[in-house]
Amino acid sequence: MSTATKLISVGEAQRLVLERAQRLEAERVPVERAAGRVLAEAASSLVDLPPFPSSAMDGFAVRAEDAGVGARLAVAARIAAGSPAGRPLAPGESMAISTGGAVPEGADAVVPLELVEEAGESIEIREAVAGGANVRERGSDVRTGDVVLDPGIRLGPAQVGALAAAGVHEVQCAKRPRVGILVTGSELKQPGEELGPGEIYESNGVLLATALQLAGAVPAQLGVVGDDPVELERGMERALLGFDMLVTSGGASVGPHDLVRETQAGLRVEEIFWGVAVKPGKPVAFGVRRDHLVFNLPGNPVSVLVTFELFVRPAVNALLGLPEPVPAFRPGLLEATVRQNAEREQFIRARTRRDGDEVVLEPIAGQESHMIARAGRADALIEVEAGGGELSAGSSVRYLPI
Ligand code: AMP
Ligand code: MG
Repeated sequence: MSTATKLISVGEAQRLVLERAQRLEAERVPVERAAGRVLAEAASSLVDLPPFPSSAMDGFAVRAEDAGVGARLAVAARIAAGSPAGRPLAPGESMAISTGGAVPEGADAVVPLELVEEAGESIEIREAVAGGANVRERGSDVRTGDVVLDPGIRLGPAQVGALAAAGVHEVQCAKRPRVGILVTGSELKQPGEELGPGEIYESNGVLLATALQLAGAVPAQLGVVGDDPVELERGMERALLGFDMLVTSGGASVGPHDLVRETQAGLRVEEIFWGVAVKPGKPVAFGVRRDHLVFNLPGNPVSVLVTFELFVRPAVNALLGLPEPVPAFRPGLLEATVRQNAEREQFIRARTRRDGDEVVLEPIAGQESHMIARAGRADALIEVEAGGGELSAGSSVRYLPI
């Protein structure tokens, strides 16, 4: 990259990506397979929840007015969850009831077990309860037809639990983005193979596939192509079909073997930006071919890790339909002093540690962009804005969990 190339800021690059990253079309998804997906349409309840007045306690269903302190009431029936009484409660009666049992018509309160004295088939009230006590009203959680979850919500355990309770077994979610991964580099061998002179193990393909999978996308590793124009063109042509997004690694810089951008320009990929004021990851490029998004990440594995978080993840989130696709930074305290970079915003790999309610961030020793083995210990990226000075130990900083 020549020094004349104008670098854009991380924020500007993210804006340019998100301008072009539209939510994918929706499809029906069974709730049990919807984890991590994002609702494309509101989901409404098929039932009143609870569907009947239900007991919140193990105890006795009564009419509160009959059940003053010292009152004696016959136990007319025993109600379990799933086994209603089958008849209303008459004045002067009680019915034993379990948590989740249907409170019979005529009853308006449940006296907990602990507040009565049982004697054969009758009870004596030790402590009175008010009308309505320990009765979960029909529809008190949600009513039939009411919205349970709004569009744009990502489905986690609480959400799928809510849907199931509301009787919903299928939802409309945006499709998962299908993402092709094309790795470039003539020096790359797969782990398990023997390394020849000048060769290294390929780590970006599996790194990206893992990151994409965890982000909710469907990754497809399209293999490794050498730094050869013909091979590269064939690989890229294939990779631009049948996917929503293409992520390449390597070959995006200015060396004589960096052919990715030139090759894809010939395949009608319109380059939106190349060169971001970020360290690591400066030579990252982004382009589009119609609604197909193309990210050219640098080859250095740590640059891949960082540029994935900054640019690819927000795009995946946007395609999934998340209304706020750029992940939020969290606050933390810096453990050791860090020098700023004059021109570029840095993302320092760090390990988090808890200190009471604070998160303390310990920068990993070895911050060069090829040091993926060092980065393997990191679980955070500390943001360090460009500048001429340093952030001293103890400073408040922002970080992204990774
Ligand atoms: P490049 O961006 O192609 O010039 O690559 C930059 C550096 O990253 C070089 O040292 C490459 O050998 C290394 N590299 C490129 N691709 C990979 C990969 N898939 N896995 C591990 N290292 C890579
Ligand atoms: Mg290369």
